[in-house]
Amino acid sequence: MKIAFLGLGIMGSRMAQRLLGEHQVTVFNRSPDKAAALPNEGARLAASAAEAVQDAELVITMLADPPAVRALALDPGGFLEHMRRGTLWVDMSTGEPAFSREMDSAARRLGLRFVDAPVAGSRPQAETGELTIFAGGESGDVEQARPVLEKLGSPMVHLGAAGQGMAMKMVVNHLLGTAMQAFAEGLQLGEHEGLDQQTLLDVLLKAPVTAPFINMKRTKLESGDYDTDFSLKWMHKDLEMVARTAYERATPMPLSAAAQQSYRLALQSGLGEQDFAAIYHWLQAGPGS
Ligand code: NAP
Repeated sequence: MKIAFLGLGIMGSRMAQRLLGEHQVTVFNRSPDKAAALPNEGARLAASAAEAVQDAELVITMLADPPAVRALALDPGGFLEHMRRGTLWVDMSTGEPAFSREMDSAARRLGLRFVDAPVAGSRPQAETGELTIFAGGESGDVEQARPVLEKLGSPMVHLGAAGQGMAMKMVVNHLLGTAMQAFAEGLQLGEHEGLDQQTLLDVLLKAPVTAPFINMKRTKLESGDYDTDFSLKWMHKDLEMVARTAYERATPMPLSAAAQQSYRLALQSGLGEQDFAAIYHWLQAGPGS
C-alpha cells in the first residue's frame, strides 16, 4: 500500500520505520534533518506534506498537538486538499475529542475519510510495534486501517465515532500525568523522612498502589538522567487538553488540574524537553527553582 507518513519525531520516526518493507512509504517532517535517515532504509522523502500525500492510499499523521495538525492539514497549501478523493487520513497524534471531530468534518467536506487513532506506550513500544491504539471513526474506515496500524501496535480498540479514540487517550493521559506526579511526591516525602531512595523504589515498584508504567522510569529516577521517551512539555499539553475538555463537559477534575499546574511550573523552569518523569527532579530542586 502507498502510505504517506507525516511527522517523524520521537514516535513518528519509529512508527514509520516499522511500515517500511511491507509498504511503499513516503515521509515528510517539518525539520528535514529528522527525515534524513529514513530514505536510506527505503522510504521516499517528500519536500512537502502536500507532495507526500498526492498519490497516497493512506495518510498517517503523528504530530505534536492540534495546532501542528491544523497547520499541516489546513493552512494554505495544507495536505488535505492534495489528498485523492475518498482517501483515508488517520491522525495518531494526541489531540482532543472536539478537535478530532472538527478534523473529521473538514475531511468529509473534501470527500475524504478520517479516523483518530492516538496511542498509549512510548518510545520503546513504538520501536517494537507494541503500542496500544485507540481508534475513533466509521467501522469500515477503522477496519481498512487495521492491517497497517496493527504493525504499529495491538490491541487496536475501536471505541466509536470520530473523537472517541481521543476521548480514551485523554483518560489514559490524565492517569499517566497524575500517577507520575503522585509517585514523585511520595518518593520525595519518604526521602525527607530518612528512607533511602533504593528502598523506596524496591518497595513501591512492587506494591499494588503504584502504576506499572513507573517501573519503566526507575533508571531515570535513580540516575537523574531524564533522557526523553515522552517529553514533559507534551505531558503538560495533554493535561491542558484534559482541563479544557473537562471544562466543556462540566466534569470536575481537581487532581488533574493540580498536576497540570505542577508540570506547567516545571516547564517554565526549563524542563520541557526532558522526560516527564523529571517532575521528580523539579520537586527535588524545590518549586520556584
Ligand atoms: P516530538 O518528538 O516532539 O515530535 C513532534 C512532531 O510534530 C515532529 O515531527 C515535529 O516536527 C512536528 N511538529 C510540531 N509542530 C509542528 C508544526 N507546527 N507543523 C508541522 N509539524 C510540527 O513528539 P513525539 O514524542 O514523537 O509525540 C508525537 C505525538 O504523539 C504527540 O501528540 C504526543 O503527545 C504523542 N505521544 C507521544 C508519546 C511518547 O512517549 N513520546 C506516547 C504517546 C503519544 P519538527 O521535527 O519540525 O519539530
